[in-house]
Amino acid sequence: MNPDDDHIASALDAVREQIATTARRCGRQSGDVSLLAVSKTKPASAIRIAHRHGQRCFGESYVQEALAKQQELAGLDIEWHFIGPIQSNKTRDIAAHFDWVHSVERGKIATRLNAQRPVGMPPLNVLLQINVSGESTKSGVAPADARALAHEIALLPNLRLRGLMTVPAPCDDPVAQREPFRQLRELMADLNADGLVLDTLSMGMTHDLDAAVAEGATIVRVGTAIFGAR
Ligand SMILES: *Cc1c(COP(=O)(O)O)cnc(C)c1O
Repeated sequence: MNPDDDHIASALDAVREQIATTARRCGRQSGDVSLLAVSKTKPASAIRIAHRHGQRCFGESYVQEALAKQQELAGLDIEWHFIGPIQSNKTRDIAAHFDWVHSVERGKIATRLNAQRPVGMPPLNVLLQINVSGESTKSGVAPADARALAHEIALLPNLRLRGLMTVPAPCDDPVAQREPFRQLRELMADLNADGLVLDTLSMGMTHDLDAAVAEGATIVRVGTAIFGAR
């Protein structure tokens, strides 16, 4: 193995171990939390190494960059997740080239993804990005507006609304880190009580992974801890 291989492989093992340890400590099964490897800005070669070490789900934030890597890696069994901000002129590519989208925050974008999902592909898995902490600079829909948007999206036949995603404001205190994740979990429970069927909480990154797992994350999105700093 060359040094790159070695580093990514041991970093992946360490992140898997961290997830498993935290899950067990919280009375959860480690298999209930899936690891999304966030490969934005990293080359296709890094994805190939992680794939060789058993990683199948990769997250990308920039459409053009992702399409180039997908082409390079054609033939590998990879589940592609789009996690970045979505511009209207990018929805066609996202609908055609991804399995999941974590960052839907407007009905108009959902309508376009639904209309542009190619015939013959399974419904696109969709998460609503929620702005839990309520900062004006952060993307995501306000919790108060989530219910109407979720019901609107749930009606679109080529999308499958699976749950919620959030990116909280950075915070170093491991206890305080849990609050926005707790709120996201409770919001999903409210929506399910309201007739929706959601099973996915996408929350937790390199610096707040443990807090997210403790509050019920089902997908954690980890870049830096696997691939190194960007
Ligand atoms: C970049 C990014 C991540 C990964 O962040 P790390 O701190 O590198 O783990 C997760 N989620 C989103 C939405 C991102 O843009």
